[in-house]
Amino acid sequence: MSADRVLVAGAGPVGLVVAVYLAQHDVPVTVLEAESALPETLRASTFHPPTLDMLESTGVLDDFLALGLKAPTVQYRERAGCIAEFDFRQIADITAHPYRLQCEQFKLNRLLYGKLATLPGAEVHFSSEVTGVEEDGTSVTAVVEQGGETRRFRGSYLVGADGARSNVRKALDIPFDGFTWPERFLVVSTPFRFDEQFAELARVSYFADPVEWFFLLRVPGLWRVMSPTRPEESDDDVLSDASVERRLQNVLPTGTPYPVEHRTLYPVHQRVAARYRKGRAFLAGDAAHINNPLGGMGMNGGIHDGYNLAERLVRVWRGEAPESELDGYERQRRPIALEYANVHSTRNKLNLESRDPARQQEFRRTMRETVADPNKSYDYLLRISMIASLRQAARL
Ligand SMILES: Cc1cc2nc3c(=O)[nH]c(=O)nc-3n(C[C@H](O)[C@H](O)[C@H](O)COP(=O)(O)OP(=O)(O)OC[C@H]3O[C@@H](n4cnc5c(N)ncnc54)[C@H](O)[C@@H]3O)c2cc1C
Repeated sequence: MSADRVLVAGAGPVGLVVAVYLAQHDVPVTVLEAESALPETLRASTFHPPTLDMLESTGVLDDFLALGLKAPTVQYRERAGCIAEFDFRQIADITAHPYRLQCEQFKLNRLLYGKLATLPGAEVHFSSEVTGVEEDGTSVTAVVEQGGETRRFRGSYLVGADGARSNVRKALDIPFDGFTWPERFLVVSTPFRFDEQFAELARVSYFADPVEWFFLLRVPGLWRVMSPTRPEESDDDVLSDASVERRLQNVLPTGTPYPVEHRTLYPVHQRVAARYRKGRAFLAGDAAHINNPLGGMGMNGGIHDGYNLAERLVRVWRGEAPESELDGYERQRRPIALEYANVHSTRNKLNLESRDPARQQEFRRTMRETVADPNKSYDYLLRISMIASLRQAARL
């Protein structure tokens, strides 16, 4: 195969965003996906305003918006009611999408994959697990297992968007520093209408609670309830009907069993790769950074990585910028993962779960004060929408 292509490992949201952008700019691209079809696991469901702004260039955004629900507000609540409600319409001066879109990430993947199929120069290989990376100075080769056979795909560059367990990262011998939280997160989906029970419930609502905090996310037709588990509980215990029911009754006691459509248990990590680039290979998305899902920064940050890198690759490919342009990717994106997503998602978690009355009070007081002050709430909205992180990256 000609080396005159960019290789992308992984057809998740990040790999597909990169591939679509490259193909739309006439850069030939080969996507290598380990699974036999696009995975449809239930993971991210929150898309932030600047991510939606970026996705406009794909040409599939209108279809995606039609599949999701707009959440113009986000609430921090406690049992007694709402602590603070932030309204994204306050930042309508700087985003064309002043809301979070609530929609499962696999629906975006399907649309991006469909788009890719219409673009010349783009190809996707399923059942193609990248197991190794070789480099010779002028090209990079992905070693791929395909149905029991080993094949080699050669390209000019390789983007490792192959998720948290990234083989590309391992093949490049890049450490994934950080830690794993002792608790895991249980996500349960139910058609039960929490919005008819909690007064003026926003479609994204975080409930602070010293005993068992949780958050509620609306997706089309369902509410997703996300809550932490105790480290000593086994997976089977957590996923049992009794445990799921107990957790839902903890959210709102109804006395009758809840209908449950999905239940999934996830380990929660905070890790950032020591490098985002080695020679002609790059890491993006979960391959480069993972954090707890509070604030919905993982996939959103990954898509922001994807655009940053793809734009640079296009400029270098066209000869509009020197090779050194590609160094700017790690310089801008890695500090964001370290300082921004990690710090904010950790702070969110600690605030919601705190059992310390002084910290609880301080959190509630700060939230009320922030929402009451237009300047403070504007800045807060810039932070939680991740616009602040993009501005910070642009300065690096
Ligand atoms: C419960 C939960 C809720 C979440 N909610 C949010 C949210 O609301 N907002 C948010 O921003 N983030 C959220 N996240 C995080 C989000 O799901 C991830 O950050 C996102 O999926 C990362 O996208 P990715 O493309 O980097 O990786 P993935 O989505 O993991 O995609 C990687 C792809 O690579 C493939 N692959 C793996 N290994 C190989 C290989 N060796 N060779 C070839 N292909 C390979 C996989 O099959 C997969 O298709 C959540 C995560 C969880 C667990």
